[in-house]
Amino acid sequence: MKNSAKIPYGIRNNRLVHISQLTRAERGGRCGCVCPECRTPLEARMGDIVRHYFAHARGTRPCAGGTETGIHLAAKQLIADRKEIPIPLLQAVLEAKDSLGYKHTESKVIFPGHDRQPVDDTKLEFSLGDIRPDLIVSLGQIEILVEVAVTHFIDAEKQQRLESRGQRCIEIDLGDIPRNLTPVELEEHVFNYQRAYWIVNPKIEAEQEKLRPRLQQQIEKANKRIAQANIAREQEEQRQREQHARMEAYFKAQEQKHAELKRQREEEQRRAREKATEQAEIRRREAEVARQLEAKAERHRQQKTWEQERQQLDLHEMRHLAMELFASCQRIHARSGKVATSTRFCLPMARHNLERDIHKMDLEAIPTAVETRTEYDWMFGVPSREWKLVALLGVVYTRESIQSRYWISIQAIERYLGEFGYQPIVALQRAEQLLNTARYYHILAEDPALMALELLPRPLDAIAEFVGELDNFNMIHLLAAKLDELAFIPKPANSWR
Ligand SMILES: [Zn+2]
Repeated sequence: MKNSAKIPYGIRNNRLVHISQLTRAERGGRCGCVCPECRTPLEARMGDIVRHYFAHARGTRPCAGGTETGIHLAAKQLIADRKEIPIPLLQAVLEAKDSLGYKHTESKVIFPGHDRQPVDDTKLEFSLGDIRPDLIVSLGQIEILVEVAVTHFIDAEKQQRLESRGQRCIEIDLGDIPRNLTPVELEEHVFNYQRAYWIVNPKIEAEQEKLRPRLQQQIEKANKRIAQANIAREQEEQRQREQHARMEAYFKAQEQKHAELKRQREEEQRRAREKATEQAEIRRREAEVARQLEAKAERHRQQKTWEQERQQLDLHEMRHLAMELFASCQRIHARSGKVATSTRFCLPMARHNLERDIHKMDLEAIPTAVETRTEYDWMFGVPSREWKLVALLGVVYTRESIQSRYWISIQAIERYLGEFGYQPIVALQRAEQLLNTARYYHILAEDPALMALELLPRPLDAIAEFVGELDNFNMIHLLAAKLDELAFIPKPANSWR
């Protein structure tokens, strides 16, 4: 394929020849040209369809750079022939960064550039020490190095060398032009100042120095703006922090205020409760005092009443009654020995119940305990056998009570006896009432007749004595009990004595 590389320029007699300069007679191998790069013969391809071009002759070993070397040589030759160069835009540009790293630029156009600058002289392939520029042109006193770049551009190392020499240098960039161009087209490109640029120009540095203060100013301004913005931002942040702190303080104060109010309310409630408690206590004490006063007044009234009643007592009458009752009891006592031991019961209800119970108990004879006489047999004013039978059968000892432990108080027995019609004798009852009255009014000690009543027995004693007899005859088993109360277990009739 390389054979078909389209080469626009060939060399004939050490002169560059463009394909368009050949006549039809010089087509093919008759062109007499060699490759500008490798110097091997070229053939002129001059067909009717595509633009004419050179190519390495068939059978030769083609190079890769024939096209570009030809264009490069032709461009240099054009400049040398015309004694003209493009003057590129000469511009000083200075850049610097501000404190935020943004790039600021100051620039000045020193020379706007133009296409064809006539020069006094041009030298091709002239060596300057270690530099070998394509051309050196002179313009008055000024020498300008010209580099034409098709494939080889000035690299950093070469640029440094050029700069260190401080010699003006331009480069014409032909890297992207069409490879099959005509000489006319090439000339347009070569002298187009927009294709050229300054590699070195001392004026640039001088102008840059002039720009430096302005750039400095610009940077300072920018930095100042940045600093101001920073300050403003910090101030704003500070303001926000303060605002936040104020809000915090406000909320905290509100919280404390609420807490304080709550505490006050609770304190008030506590005080109110305490006050209520105190008042309740005061009322209670007042009520207590009032109650005590009332009680004292009541005691006083009772004392008064007691004293009045005591004054109204007819002591003479009481003494007389006491003597009469005592005498009456003495008579009952004396007579009791003469009461007939009747087997018949005088009280209808007692008779009825006892007859029935005796029948139920299936008793053959009156129990010995009933028949036994005791000290107080006389007290009820009826035959002792009767009241004892009532006590035994109707109250103390029944079929039911045999089945289980039984308990009864002496007073209860006395009460049951009352239900059957056996009241303790009236005289003893009245004597006891009189004694109680005398004791109540503290006059007992004042009269021997009243004191004598204390010698008379109580009806309860008779019952207690009788119950004791029942135990003696193994009819019951007495249990330990309180005074005036009895607890006992009835025993079956076959164990009686
Ligand atoms: Zn070649």
